[in-house]
Amino acid sequence: MTRSWSLECSSCGKTRSADGLPGVCDCGQPYLVRYSCAPPPAAKSLLVERPWTLWRYREWLPLGEREAPVTLGEGGTPLLAALRLGARHGFADLWVKEEGANPTGSFKARGLAAAVTRATLAGARRFVVPTAGNAGVALAAYAARAGVAARVYAPASTPPTILRQIRSFGADLVLLDGHIGDCGTAARAYALESGAVDVSTLREPYRIEGKKSLALELAEQLGWTLPHAIVYPTGGGTGLIGMWKGFGELMRAGWVSGSLPRMYSVQAAGCAPVVQAFRAGAAGCTPWSDPRTIAAGLRVPSPLGDRLMLAVLRQSGGEAVAVADAQLAAAAQELQMLEGIDASPEGGATLAAALELKARGVVKPDERVVLFNTGAGWLYRG
Ligand SMILES: *Cc1c(COP(=O)(O)O)cnc(C)c1O
Repeated sequence: MTRSWSLECSSCGKTRSADGLPGVCDCGQPYLVRYSCAPPPAAKSLLVERPWTLWRYREWLPLGEREAPVTLGEGGTPLLAALRLGARHGFADLWVKEEGANPTGSFKARGLAAAVTRATLAGARRFVVPTAGNAGVALAAYAARAGVAARVYAPASTPPTILRQIRSFGADLVLLDGHIGDCGTAARAYALESGAVDVSTLREPYRIEGKKSLALELAEQLGWTLPHAIVYPTGGGTGLIGMWKGFGELMRAGWVSGSLPRMYSVQAAGCAPVVQAFRAGAAGCTPWSDPRTIAAGLRVPSPLGDRLMLAVLRQSGGEAVAVADAQLAAAAQELQMLEGIDASPEGGATLAAALELKARGVVKPDERVVLFNTGAGWLYRG
């Protein structure tokens, strides 16, 4: 049977074909990709001979049998045992997924590779993205790889090295005073006037599919088992939502069994709309005014995927935690000095949150816990 996929609105449930360049549903909410069938069991034995990029899971991804992806070798990042860190803090089974090892230095490569692949196959020649930083670098690189144009809107306060990276891949960078929400408004206006494809978080359905590879890869690296707890730095939510979608699909296909991981979302104290909504028992977020944090990727005051994120946290039995900038910076430094991992501030935030969750008894010392260093620390320096 040939596998195909269609799109289903995550809110109203309306479906449509995946033809063309799908944006959001008429109701304003994101579409999710639904496949006609699960990957065949034989897909597992094919893995031994495939390179370690996310396309080794092509039977799980939106890529036809005869289609070629736009790729820089994204995915296949190390899952590192954090023995010294674990010993210091009393974790018996602590791991770090080192996403800084991706092309362009962050896990954004996974989503943009998938989004640029689908859109260019549908004929797109021009792209736009609003960014807190790393999505802009990733779009710039994948657009160059595909030979198409990219416009990036970023806050003027974005770390300078990230801005230099965006320009160096040839993207047309526009700086704005404000945050990623303001950049999103400008990006939508530009998309309307120019016909550029808007690859903002959850405004097209394929970045989520790229991020889903995090779940597949983690499961394979752990011998087709899942950890007890995942601590993830949450901004727009693609990582959290994509991973949860991946775990569910793995479970339904019978590639893993047992319990799903508890998903813990970490935000910066200076921009924590998901934490606030989680604690209030709300279904969606209230926009955060005056968002401030050195963890650029977490400076997302009003995420479009708020309802999906909150549902993941609740369904999984996890929660949301806020950490102060001083804490996340100190934790990032600890990852560097104790494990040699070049942690970004967002990666540091996961360690800071894990310490808090363990101190509160929410995460137990012998549980298998995976932290995500979502980006390389050098992008935030100089
Ligand atoms: C974008 C980003 C995040 C937030 O990820 P989402 O999946 O959008 O929630 C975290 N860390 C880094 C380094 C990022 O670039």
